[in-house]
Amino acid sequence: MLPVVVVHAGAGCIPKEQAKVCSSGVRAATRGGYTVLQEGGSAMDAVVEVVTQLENNPLYNAGCGSVLNVKGEIEMDAIVMEGKTLGSGAVSAVRRIANPTQLARLVMDKTSHAFLTAEGASQFARAMGVPEVPEESLITDYARMRWKQNLAPGANPVECQMGKMGTVGAVAVDKDGNVACATSTGGILNQMEGRVGDTPIIGSGGYADNNVGAVSTTGHGEAIMKVTLAKLILFHMEQGQSVEAASDLALAYMKTRVQGLGGVVTVDPHGHWAARFSSNQMVWAAAQTDTLHYGVQTGEHVTQSIDNPH
Ligand code: ASP
Repeated sequence: MLPVVVVHAGAGCIPKEQAKVCSSGVRAATRGGYTVLQEGGSAMDAVVEVVTQLENNPLYNAGCGSVLNVKGEIEMDAIVMEGKTLGSGAVSAVRRIANPTQLARLVMDKTSHAFLTAEGASQFARAMGVPEVPEESLITDYARMRWKQNLAPGANPVECQMGKMGTVGAVAVDKDGNVACATSTGGILNQMEGRVGDTPIIGSGGYADNNVGAVSTTGHGEAIMKVTLAKLILFHMEQGQSVEAASDLALAYMKTRVQGLGGVVTVDPHGHWAARFSSNQMVWAAAQTDTLHYGVQTGEHVTQSIDNPH
């Protein structure tokens, strides 16, 4: 079993000029998660480290940089799950916190519940001493500009939903063979207030089970929920499919059955991993045995030493 961390930063269409810089942020976060594993940290510690770094980076649709809902506000969703206990924590429609994934982990670690939403989640955050941040500090000029564009008469609603995404997620296997996942998002651009997508929904935005593996998903949330994408992949793995084949089968099913596109990162407890997508692009990276793997386009697979900062 080889420790590994695999990361995605959303499935969709990434403007060319952004793909390079998005990839470099994902690689940096992947290195951060791998360092946690190398230092003996758990798979859960590694995925939370990765996703926290990406939430703090305004390039991605999670934490700072989240897309805006129809009212021009940010509501965020996140999930974590650990494969040893099947314990999970999720939050949805949370506002004014920098790192929803850390709050999801607190739900898992500090409550007897699995999912807190909206104002109750905010109250819990306050009780845990999670600092409240001004909403403006999470809103980027780019997010505001796209929100305005998509409110304009004649804006294409498909483009609005399947345009640049940037939800972030990670899966990992640690030296003890424990698997974990974390996924975090601002949702989809100009979503209705109160809309919750797949991300915090167990079995849709992520799932982790030491007996099978772990998955983090991205893509059109309403489609992902219809097929419970993360759990569907693990079902195929239980039937004997490889991480890659199981991911492809489930993504193909989502495409034909509900015309949904998306992407996933998948591991099994032995350290086999896959980053697969049916969308045009998905920024992804994986770190294992001191090698960093990464890509954006279908079929693209670059490798470099983990120590290479570029
Ligand atoms: N799945 C997310 C949602 O529907 C969006 C994404 O993955 O980019 O909320």
